[in-house]
Amino acid sequence: MKTLPNFLVERVRLTPNRVAVVKPNDEQCTFKELYDDVFQHAGRLSAIGISKGSHVAVLMSNSYEMIVTVHALHLIGAVIILMNTRLSQQEWEYQLEDSDTSYLLTNLRSDRFKNVKVYSFEELQTVTPNSFDIQKTVRSEDVATMMYTSGTTGAPKAVIQTYGNHWSSAIASMLNLGFKEDDAWLICLPMFHVGGLSTLYKSAIYGMKVVLVEKAEAQSIAKAVQTHQVTILSVVSKVLTDLVTLYTRKEYTHSLRCVLIGGGPAPLPLLKNSMEIKLPVYQTYGMTETCSQIVTLAPEYMLSKVGSAGTALYTCELKVLNQDKMASPNEIGEIVVKGPNVSKGYYKRESSSFNDGWLYTGDMGYVDEDGFLFVVDRRSDLIISGGENIYPAEIEEVLVAHKNVLEVGVTGKDDVKWGKVPVAFVVLHKNTTVSKEELQQFCKEKLASYKVPKEIYFVESLPRNAANKLLRRKLLELQPGEEK
Ligand code: AMP
Ligand code: MG
Ligand code: MG
Repeated sequence: MKTLPNFLVERVRLTPNRVAVVKPNDEQCTFKELYDDVFQHAGRLSAIGISKGSHVAVLMSNSYEMIVTVHALHLIGAVIILMNTRLSQQEWEYQLEDSDTSYLLTNLRSDRFKNVKVYSFEELQTVTPNSFDIQKTVRSEDVATMMYTSGTTGAPKAVIQTYGNHWSSAIASMLNLGFKEDDAWLICLPMFHVGGLSTLYKSAIYGMKVVLVEKAEAQSIAKAVQTHQVTILSVVSKVLTDLVTLYTRKEYTHSLRCVLIGGGPAPLPLLKNSMEIKLPVYQTYGMTETCSQIVTLAPEYMLSKVGSAGTALYTCELKVLNQDKMASPNEIGEIVVKGPNVSKGYYKRESSSFNDGWLYTGDMGYVDEDGFLFVVDRRSDLIISGGENIYPAEIEEVLVAHKNVLEVGVTGKDDVKWGKVPVAFVVLHKNTTVSKEELQQFCKEKLASYKVPKEIYFVESLPRNAANKLLRRKLLELQPGEEK
């Protein structure tokens, strides 16, 4: 498709009176009401000088105001740079400069930032709206958003995401999960990451209600699910772990028909525990560069292919390459993907990750005889110990199955003899204890001896990024006596 309608304008033309957003204070608004707020706000943004093609950074937490801001910028045709609220001042400044941003919309104090014009949402309420050209249609290849990769490895790069990418992603997801009239999708992933943001576009494209929560933790989520009859939820494993506990204790009821788990390894014990309590979990695999999901397990394979991330979505392709050759079934190699949702590249940077329409993900995995993907780990997290490849996720999965273990992070530590050896950082369930030796013994029963963690450190919590993803490269800083 060469042109696309503005997602929200088109939705308002079709079903203006459907509920668009449930705010954290439980107030609801329809698509028409949302559009009215968006139109007003766009007028104000235009009055301060933002126009089609302006690079505008948004540094906000999930809120109705953030939704209005994003749609308003699209109505004007600005390019949105979504910035992570958990970064340091220095990281923000790097991103503002690297992305050639001239406006920053945030509630943080404006004197913290140089070289950009800074406005808060409140401040903008006092501005008199200007008239502006509504971008009723856009070209599919126009840049809609840019997002810095969450930086589990390497220097941050801005991923270019076009309107066509977002559109294709929303459609491919729906062709897998289907859409039901009463669907309500709860957003608990940050909207400055694609997992959260993509739900906003789906909302407008499908005509679907989204539910916002005050806090992205299990209790608030379970409460909102119950109150607003939420049917779909995207989570990372940390949140799912806590949700399973709440539902096992029967503290809440739920109406969920689909819980998408992605953003990092989905440990098998967690998937099985979820299924035991009839929580319909679907593993999904995707990244900023694919504008959210690209591989997701279809409903009918939830039980028979548990542990698999599924098959490439409609219109998407997947292959596994081992030293540039197609891997055979069950042979591990690099996951390589293609599709209309895949970014065309990084802003101002050439990258060998993008080649002839294919994205080389840097993730390792294999495809079974039936074509189902199993994600093994990130290549950069690979621990090579005495010439053997060790994938941290495999060890984490074993340890987390121990009854006293809540969460685990495994990484490689330098070792004179082996090059690297695996070490584990373990968070225990409240009021439980277990010895290091017992856990090592537990691993020995299930893993080759070179995979058994040489050290086990008990810690309060694991280092995670804003999307709650485990930052394995920061684990070693948790060793006793290590500088933070
Ligand atoms: P980001 O670009 O920050 O969204 O991170 C994407 C990365 O998360 C991928 O490249 C993978 O390393 C990891 N990831 C996403 N989904 C899965 C999954 N189902 N299993 C394992 N790792 C995943
Ligand atoms: Mg990445
Ligand atoms: Mg456990």
